[in-house]
Amino acid sequence: MSGTVPYWLDEPYEPRPPLQGELETDVCVIGAGTCGLSCALQLARHGIGVAVLERGTVAGGASGRNGGFLLAGVAPFHNDARERYGAERARAIYARTYAAQEDVYALARDLGVGDAVRRVGMLRVAVSEDEAEHVRAYARALAADGFPAAVVEREDLPEALRHGGLVACLTEHDGALHPARWYRALGGAAEAAGARIFENTSVHAPVEEPGEGPVLTDAGSVRARHVVVASDGALPVLVPEYAGRVRSRRLHMVATEPVPPLIETLVYARWGYEYLQQRPDGRILAGGFSDVDGDDSYTDSDDGSPDIWERTRRYLAGELGVDAAITHRWAGVVGYSEDSLPYVGEVPGREGLYVSGGYSGVGNVPGFMGGRDIADTIAGRPSEPLFPPGR
Ligand SMILES: Cc1cc2nc3c(=O)[nH]c(=O)nc-3n(C[C@H](O)[C@H](O)[C@H](O)COP(=O)(O)OP(=O)(O)OC[C@H]3O[C@@H](n4cnc5c(N)ncnc54)[C@H](O)[C@@H]3O)c2cc1C
Repeated sequence: MSGTVPYWLDEPYEPRPPLQGELETDVCVIGAGTCGLSCALQLARHGIGVAVLERGTVAGGASGRNGGFLLAGVAPFHNDARERYGAERARAIYARTYAAQEDVYALARDLGVGDAVRRVGMLRVAVSEDEAEHVRAYARALAADGFPAAVVEREDLPEALRHGGLVACLTEHDGALHPARWYRALGGAAEAAGARIFENTSVHAPVEEPGEGPVLTDAGSVRARHVVVASDGALPVLVPEYAGRVRSRRLHMVATEPVPPLIETLVYARWGYEYLQQRPDGRILAGGFSDVDGDDSYTDSDDGSPDIWERTRRYLAGELGVDAAITHRWAGVVGYSEDSLPYVGEVPGREGLYVSGGYSGVGNVPGFMGGRDIADTIAGRPSEPLFPPGR
């Protein structure tokens, strides 16, 4: 069983032409995922010239291969984040991502792609006594900081989750994406605002700071005053000084054929190692078992592991009673950082070179926010840095 085209990307698509020749602009963005596209849109809205260079296609990286969970917060659960980063910083991070999540809903409505960004809520389900205690503490921590969170006892869980689920936390503000449709709409909006996007345009590594020379590709080059490396999983290759801090990692997903209605919310189970959503057409989109992939998971190749896909299929059949054929199976590459927080901003000592990466598996909202923050910084309107690139 080998990989297939990701379900999200399995639609007709006409890529834009690659970059040919020399180009001069204000900002060169490398990568057309959530970060690169939101950065490009915001720059264009500020009236700043921007060219986006993408090795594959818009949303062809992790942004178009992911679980489609539009979550407030960052990779660690909020109660763990309070312990790791301090209560004040954790609250600030959640508050900013919570506001950015609202911005995504509003922008999707404005762009007429509200069906690709649906506020369905998320159930974080505990499947062991230890985890149940943690889920209750998680709900308490969110509520204590003023964010919506409700405990759902076992008897009130949707039937499909009662088999293994003990208790859950419902976060109603979280949403379900069709990531490829959402990010392709974001790319279209950036372009309509004035950004230029070049697909099938691979940038040579390592990327230099703007003062040291242009950004080079196979068939062209870009001279810009600012260069933004918005390539989560490829950050260690493109900017090697991050190689020790961010590790490329592959994560797996499957899609089933449509099944009768089972679950309306997003589901995060077993500490978030398993996650799934049911699409309006009935398909289940599920990922998981990165913890059993071991050292093999640390790779920048998106060749997937048949064992992980099979394990996910068995999980769906055994835990949720979803006995449906798997129609799509794929993997995507992301960047994991040591402290599970991304690096976002101008690299210290390298004038005009900005990075974004290390989202550690949760990037749909933080990546959108990170790209926008970098654009605002370039426009001379910086916000309080949440994820310093120099730590
Ligand atoms: C299976 C899976 C499930 C996930 N589930 C979720 C989820 O449900 N919710 C969530 O919030 N996050 C999830 N994530 C994480 C999320 O997808 C990422 O954090 C996020 O997409 C990172 O966005 P980005 O724009 O930084 O990077 P990317 O989307 O990876 O974009 C970077 C782009 O850079 C391009 N690039 C790389 N090298 C070069 C080069 N040399 N030249 C030009 N272009 C280059 C790549 O082709 C890529 O398109 C998941 C990830 C995976 C793989």
